[in-house]
Amino acid sequence: MNKPYSILLYYCYSPIADPEAFREEHHLLCLELNLLGRIIVSKEGLNGTISGLKEDCEKYMERMKADPRFAKIDFKVDESETHAFTKLHVRTKAEIVHSGLLHIDPNLRTGVHLSPKEFKEMKDQDDVVVLDVRSDYEYSVGRFKNAVTLDIENFREFPDKVGKLKEKYKDKKILTYCTGGIKCEKASAFLLEQGFENVYQLHGGIIKYGMEVGGEDFEGKCYVFDNRVAVDVNKVNPKVISTCHVCGTESDRMVNCANPVCNLHVPICEKCGWELDGACSTECKEHPEKRPYDGTGYYQKEMNGYNPLKGFNRRKKTDVSA
Ligand SMILES: [Zn+2]
Ligand SMILES: [Zn+2]
Repeated sequence: MNKPYSILLYYCYSPIADPEAFREEHHLLCLELNLLGRIIVSKEGLNGTISGLKEDCEKYMERMKADPRFAKIDFKVDESETHAFTKLHVRTKAEIVHSGLLHIDPNLRTGVHLSPKEFKEMKDQDDVVVLDVRSDYEYSVGRFKNAVTLDIENFREFPDKVGKLKEKYKDKKILTYCTGGIKCEKASAFLLEQGFENVYQLHGGIIKYGMEVGGEDFEGKCYVFDNRVAVDVNKVNPKVISTCHVCGTESDRMVNCANPVCNLHVPICEKCGWELDGACSTECKEHPEKRPYDGTGYYQKEMNGYNPLKGFNRRKKTDVSA
């Protein structure tokens, strides 16, 4: 338990008056601290997954907590032997998670936050429905036992599924969960808006549930958006729920197909991974643009000539010419 790097996962719904100016400043801060990863800045707040040396991540968290807008951020901190990213992106967007629910402000109204311990105590009660608000490729490799899942490829499709949920579960207590808690803020708020009365959300998501209460009854692995692809959560009663996309044996090794045009997110066992050189099929293996396989199945876009200053300098130039 003494790895040199940390991986931070966090979000904060807290108004940022000038996201573009904040982005500039924040990009500089990340460069100064040699952090890598992805941060989304919007008028409604911040969403980030970053990695860096432990001491640099500590400094980052201190700096953030010193800002009254972000003092309440609940950082999920994991340790790692290396950076979990190869690049740094600090971007502005309309929402910190694309949901299309721009009118919803979780600071005004959202589902009741449950600590991992409270969630664990409530999830098996008779009148409770545990709802996974994540996408299909995420829950296919891991989810809570008995969770209701949605046929969605992206969170922006969530609002369309609520009508069906209402027909079936309107009078139940709904417990939503996602990876780190951010999607649940808007998902649970939207359920309340649509007429559900008892809506709760797992605060800190699957990641915090694993860290704080051992991950009991989370089956499979938790899909994450960095080079680990999927992480272990359950130290109490772990179980593999997925099978290799190629040969059908039990496997929770999540990879992206090495053919960038396909880029399918599926479990592929170690053996098939090497046999197909990281591709999901022989067709993908033969694809002229197939990326080299390093055994992880994780790829970042446009790696050639990348330098973390790139986004910052490009932005500066645009500003000058504007
Ligand atoms: Zn296989
Ligand atoms: Zn493929």
